[in-house]
Amino acid sequence: MAQEDIFKKLVAHCKEYGYVFPSSEIYDGLGAVYDYGQHGVELKNNIKRYWWDSMILLHENVVGLDSAIFMHPTTWKASGHVDAFNDPLIDNKDSKKRYRADVLIEEHVAKYEEKAEKEIEKARERFGDRFDEPLFRQTNPRVAAHLEKRDALVARLSAALNANDLAELRQIIIDNQIVCPVSGTCNWTEVRQFNLMFATEMGSTAEGASKIYLRPETAQGIFVNFLNVQKSGRMKIPFGIAQIGKAFRNEIIARQFIFRVREFEQMEMQFFVPPGSGIEWFHRWKKLRMQWHQALGFGAACYRFHDHDKLAHYADAATDIEYRFPFGFKEVEGIHSRTDFDLRRHQEFSGKKMQYFDPGLNESYIPHVVETSIGVDRMFLQIISAAYREETIDDGETRVLLALPPALAPVKLSVLPLVKKDGLPEKAREIIQQLRLDCRCLYDEKDSIGKRYRRQDAIGTPFCVTVDHLSLEENTVTIRHRDTMQQERVSIDRLPGIIEEKTSLKTLLRRLDAI
Ligand code: ATP
Repeated sequence: MAQEDIFKKLVAHCKEYGYVFPSSEIYDGLGAVYDYGQHGVELKNNIKRYWWDSMILLHENVVGLDSAIFMHPTTWKASGHVDAFNDPLIDNKDSKKRYRADVLIEEHVAKYEEKAEKEIEKARERFGDRFDEPLFRQTNPRVAAHLEKRDALVARLSAALNANDLAELRQIIIDNQIVCPVSGTCNWTEVRQFNLMFATEMGSTAEGASKIYLRPETAQGIFVNFLNVQKSGRMKIPFGIAQIGKAFRNEIIARQFIFRVREFEQMEMQFFVPPGSGIEWFHRWKKLRMQWHQALGFGAACYRFHDHDKLAHYADAATDIEYRFPFGFKEVEGIHSRTDFDLRRHQEFSGKKMQYFDPGLNESYIPHVVETSIGVDRMFLQIISAAYREETIDDGETRVLLALPPALAPVKLSVLPLVKKDGLPEKAREIIQQLRLDCRCLYDEKDSIGKRYRRQDAIGTPFCVTVDHLSLEENTVTIRHRDTMQQERVSIDRLPGIIEEKTSLKTLLRRLDAI
């Protein structure tokens, strides 16, 4: 099945099974805003807990913060967002559709990459075990030609973005004959800058009200509180501050479901280090963050780093962790070495010292910062894309399965009485009573056992427990494993231990800690 069709099915599945709904759907929705349903909110909370605990519990020198969404407007002047948080937009005159000029070009870059990959795949099939990929990459003229074109385009795009040259961006689109996917034409407007921050007013009267912004990132709340946390917590550098919270961006193009939305949540950590050690810490966090992703068990081949050619105005090194979504490799998380840019600017704009006295060095300095920044919604989409499967099983039937990492699954266990009589429902309820403070359990007695299994597979429940007549005599149940569909008979007394071992966040964190 084409990746596009799989993606459409995934979106429909999220709605049907209470994961994600379009916002205000009864009014036909609101562009790029989504609500999370009964299972979605649980998955989201579990993702946040995995991130939070991995930061706060596994790192003695990382502490939390919850700063307000509204901040003093000067914050955004100091951070550079008022002047520079822009996207270059371009319209197609025939379809009237609007695009980000840089994204149109990046998608064209990806096409060259895809062409090269296709050549490599063909050769792999042809040569089988004898295939030497590095050699083929170096010597095949067609692969070399595609990659050369890709590199030239990347270099031209970086130069245009760095120089803020909007006319050149348009020229790149024209020269490469990049067409609008809707109209198929190359009839483009000029490129214009568009600021992504939402503004509103604070205060009750029109004259007295002042313009403030909905934060476009959570990081600035951390910077302005740097000294509050450092002093009140008697923190010694190096240390980090972690925060989870809402952010808002008036994205020009918001497609691909929850990948790019206008209201989203970020999980950000700013790590404060002595001047001169930013790059070393950048490499350490790069490794740690990739381990965090890979501990979920979807396979290392789904991830890659994309080091930036074009650095943001505040960074001296930057990389993205990309995941292979059904629509290609895309950013899930950014890791940036932000130098002392933010603290220095806040010192300048506020007139307050943002310095740390280092007792080891016996001197004061503005710390440098390494940031890790990941979107909860994008991580949600990453997980659900990786987990979604359609399988044909033995009897020729198909099942739709969400193979979620057990620690993140919204429901850990479903308890199913074989029949609705003979005391089996009561026994099932007893089991839930025993486990409900440890994990989220569901009770289901409707339809055949097979249908009930399918329903739980679609939700992603790792374990189903069936209560039958033997359960009353022997105090045992059958436990069915979601991914293998294998069943085993176990004593009810062992259930809490099995469920805890397989589904608790602690197990996942232990695995991460041991890497
Ligand atoms: P992009 O290039 O995709 O616009 P970005 O580089 O601007 O993203 P950052 O500012 O580095 O993104 O934000 C850090 C993380 O926040 C991203 O890696 C992503 O996971 C998340 N994020 C950013 N913008 C959005 C959005 N509009 N919707 C959902 N998540 C977002």
